[in-house]
Amino acid sequence: MKKTGSLIFLIGIILLATSCRAATELESETTTSITTTHASALITTAPTTAISKSSTYDFDYPGIAPVVAAVPADPYLVYVSRDYTLPPNYTPTLQVCVSIYPEKIEMESTAATQYKAMYNAALADGAEIVPYSGYRSITWQKNNFDNKIASYTNEGYSRAEAVNLAVQSILPPGCSEHNSGLAMDITRPGVWGTREDFDTTKEFLWLQANAHEYGFILRYPKDKQEITNVMYEPWHWRYVGIEPAMSMKTSGQCLEEYLGGSD
Ligand code: ZN
Repeated sequence: MKKTGSLIFLIGIILLATSCRAATELESETTTSITTTHASALITTAPTTAISKSSTYDFDYPGIAPVVAAVPADPYLVYVSRDYTLPPNYTPTLQVCVSIYPEKIEMESTAATQYKAMYNAALADGAEIVPYSGYRSITWQKNNFDNKIASYTNEGYSRAEAVNLAVQSILPPGCSEHNSGLAMDITRPGVWGTREDFDTTKEFLWLQANAHEYGFILRYPKDKQEITNVMYEPWHWRYVGIEPAMSMKTSGQCLEEYLGGSD
């Protein structure tokens, strides 16, 4: 697992260097051409296919310079993280997931439809997977990120230090899976929020056994933290499509491993 993580990291470094170097000399070529020209020895990874020639980031935060991700052929496999941001023109079509709650929690429309089917199936089995936080706008993400930074600068930290601290608990605008409309933080009846002990509930156990059949994966598993670089989040489920989710369930891979095509 460590080896795989290192491999992915290495691939990322190589590709970052490659895309920067290739940006000017391959101005008229497509992203795919850059990939195949310079990284043909590497396995096709989502970060590979997601690398855009334009690696500018719209927001000005010291130390934060994610690569702009292109939406891949299968849009449900779009990869975002602290190092990869959604393209500025990414605008998911939104739909309310489960309309019985007063809060209008939305996801990208296909993901929302699948969530609703999953919700109903879980309910039939006696588990209510309550949607807590789905799509978040870039503006929402930016406000929250800025507020977190402000809380640190108010404590006397420099802006650079505050950004570095903030990014440890909130992803910058465009870098959260919630900005894509493909992620849902799930809770259970009577608990309004995200809690680590969610993994002891029947709702979590149901998700673990069945979510892949609806195209959802546990995005940040406990045993993959070194690969995802995100702490264990039993509440955060990501829609990737049924086939990829089934494949990842069978192989035990997390999204980085699946997209990296590793063993
Ligand atoms: Zn989440």
